[in-house]
Amino acid sequence: MIPLPQPDQETRFFWDACARKELMILRCNACHLYIHPPRPACRRCGSTDVGPARVSGRGVIHSYTVTAQPVPGYEPPFTVVLVDLEEQEGLRLVSQIVDVEPQDVRIGMPVEVTFRQASDDVWLPFFAWRR
Ligand SMILES: [Zn+2]
Repeated sequence: MIPLPQPDQETRFFWDACARKELMILRCNACHLYIHPPRPACRRCGSTDVGPARVSGRGVIHSYTVTAQPVPGYEPPFTVVLVDLEEQEGLRLVSQIVDVEPQDVRIGMPVEVTFRQASDDVWLPFFAWRR
């Protein structure tokens, strides 16, 4: 059983979007900075006028770790990746890569989001090799 996210007021939009197979990241409406993880105010300009914006789901692998330890719901080995989303320099998401053997994962590998169903109404964002 995969541990399911526990959405709160600030992260519910993210999980709701995943269930629609959309990747949404919080964005400042004043200066257009993307903010992840979500927080109530923009860290650049301080505005509290922030709201979800849809992103492409494309990015490149910034770094990765192959995990050999068993984790509930996941069959080791699996690869945890830090993905640089293309919308903004340094906009990074922690996820896992799917359908790529751990030894084939590379820093800089182009990837795109793919959603996998974890329960009736919960979908999780993973990343797949964008060839
Ligand atoms: Zn801002």
